[in-house]
Amino acid sequence: MYYSSGNYEAFAHPLKNDAVDGKSAYIIGSGLAGLSAACFLVRDAQMKGSQIHVLEKDPIPGGACDGYEYQNMGYIMRGGREMDNHFEVMWDLLRSIPSIETPDISVLDEYYWLNKKDPNYSLMRATVNQGEDAHTDKKFNISDKGSMEIMKLFFTPDEELYNKKITDFFDEEVLNSNFWLYWRTMFAFENWHSALEMKIYIKRYIHHVGGLPDFTALRFTKYNQYESMILPMVEYLKAHEVQFNYGIKVTDLRFDCSKGKKVVKQIKFIQNGEDGVLDLTEDDYVFITNGGCVENSTYGAQDKIAPFDSTLKPGNGWDLWKSIASQDASFGHPEKFCSDPEKTNWMSATCTTLDNKIPQYIQNICKRDPLSGKVVTGGIVTVKDSSWLMSWTVNRQPQFRNQPGNQVVVWIYGLFTDKKGDYIKKSMRECTGKEICQEWLYHLGVPVNEIEKMSEESANTIPCMMPYITAFFMPREKGDRPDVVPAKAVNFAFVGQFAETKRDTIFTTEYSMRTAMEAVYTLFNVDRGVPEVWGSTYDVRDLLNATVALRDGKKITEMNLGLKEKLALKEVLKKIQDTDIEKLLKEYNVI
Ligand SMILES: Cc1cc2nc3c(=O)[nH]c(=O)nc-3n(C[C@H](O)[C@H](O)[C@H](O)COP(=O)(O)OP(=O)(O)OC[C@H]3O[C@@H](n4cnc5c(N)ncnc54)[C@H](O)[C@@H]3O)c2cc1C
Repeated sequence: MYYSSGNYEAFAHPLKNDAVDGKSAYIIGSGLAGLSAACFLVRDAQMKGSQIHVLEKDPIPGGACDGYEYQNMGYIMRGGREMDNHFEVMWDLLRSIPSIETPDISVLDEYYWLNKKDPNYSLMRATVNQGEDAHTDKKFNISDKGSMEIMKLFFTPDEELYNKKITDFFDEEVLNSNFWLYWRTMFAFENWHSALEMKIYIKRYIHHVGGLPDFTALRFTKYNQYESMILPMVEYLKAHEVQFNYGIKVTDLRFDCSKGKKVVKQIKFIQNGEDGVLDLTEDDYVFITNGGCVENSTYGAQDKIAPFDSTLKPGNGWDLWKSIASQDASFGHPEKFCSDPEKTNWMSATCTTLDNKIPQYIQNICKRDPLSGKVVTGGIVTVKDSSWLMSWTVNRQPQFRNQPGNQVVVWIYGLFTDKKGDYIKKSMRECTGKEICQEWLYHLGVPVNEIEKMSEESANTIPCMMPYITAFFMPREKGDRPDVVPAKAVNFAFVGQFAETKRDTIFTTEYSMRTAMEAVYTLFNVDRGVPEVWGSTYDVRDLLNATVALRDGKKITEMNLGLKEKLALKEVLKKIQDTDIEKLLKEYNVI
């Protein structure tokens, strides 16, 4: 496997490696990683679909990438996926997957045209005082000292960030800025999360810094991501006769790591309550989705809380990884990520409005008609003074293909599930759907005497507790995640959010797809480049843009510098006078 960039390799089709014939693949998990592995096996490794077996414990595919109408409950989306134009692997694959609504175009074209015609941007990023504009006004509002703390993190070698927390690098100068408000609510970082991950994120999205305050950086699918991404992939795979097996819990994999190579020999599973074993040869390849951010997630209902239960049971993504990890040092350290659910949980809730009472309050804030079919909030709206640190969003409606035309599906989330609310004097995890809706309506500016009735009659709200949703953000070091294909592995790979790959950011759809592509290309020697992570961090234009944007447009010459630094800067400016460097710095408003 090697990385490439540019369009020479992007449009090339790899030749078939005949060694693929007679081989089989067993894919554990039908999340984006598992489905992508199957797609790359079919499209690029050119394995027969009938030789590919997807083993999934749930009754439906998609894993964390969801959006589903559950009978007697209503619409539920545990999350909504903010996406990027530089998800290089994603677009490499989705250009080959037919759209379900318009099969003669690809999912990529569907997404591209939608976002071209109706670009995403927010008209109110944050509120305070029950629905008033918090006037973040596209500003980062960060001091010179705060900017320097971010710069310092940017340039700190990874090794020095192992097992360190964000607060080991940022103090109040960053943590009290709009920058941190935008950042942590958009990406769900907590102050105690990994400084290394924070650095990787800044580098990965440096080209988006200027677009963060109003979300011009983002793009979204037409419907929820189960319908817009998972279903088209599943249809593509079914058309290629890939075998889907639901309700199979893989409880263990047995490896032989003697004789200088690592071979997976057995899959142990439970199906219909019965234990089963599948013996494997070196021609049987296993793709393992280890861990999982939505493992142990639970749903509540209008009148029911979503219980917080972090107990790991056999056949759970974490339990499986623990058993695998106990067999070889290169298989990672799951306990680094799944041992402290108090630090890795948050909750979301899906609220479906049932009449026209709530949408008018949404419109007051986002300044757009929620039922227009176009961009509504344009990304999350954060309630700056919410003790739960609540954010909410309304994507283009309908979010579900079968959604009635007068209903609006809203996604709400709170980062602090153990803090008492501002209207509901309970923690988010103690709240029913109706109570979460009430807290949201309060922050939306609904008059207090109307809140209870509206939450009961004008909405259906389903809470969801996710104990491990930010497990991947826990402080870590090299070796805590297994490499996609560990050294000396013969017939297996790790895919998804807890497999190690370079430079990309976890908690993204792209990461799962990338690990899948790297796994297939490595194990089957596919002779075509895997698109490298977008290289904006090496592009001086993006670096200059980001530096200026982060300082709300202020030039470096306006920095609060001591006499010594001032003189040094003067000296540098003199040296670059009448050079292309000076031209570039002027063009990007740095000087
Ligand atoms: C709330 C939320 C918000 C998100 N926001 C964004 C966003 O804004 N932008 C973005 O790009 N991404 C976002 N994501 C991330 C993205 O959706 C996920 O990272 C991605 O879908 C994970 O895919 P995966 O295949 O790696 O893992 P998963 O989706 O977790 O799939 C793993 C699958 O394996 C199955 N499985 C696990 N163990 C076993 C076993 N032992 N036996 C059988 N089956 C098993 C599971 O049931 C599951 O189906 C968000 C996710 C969530 C939940």
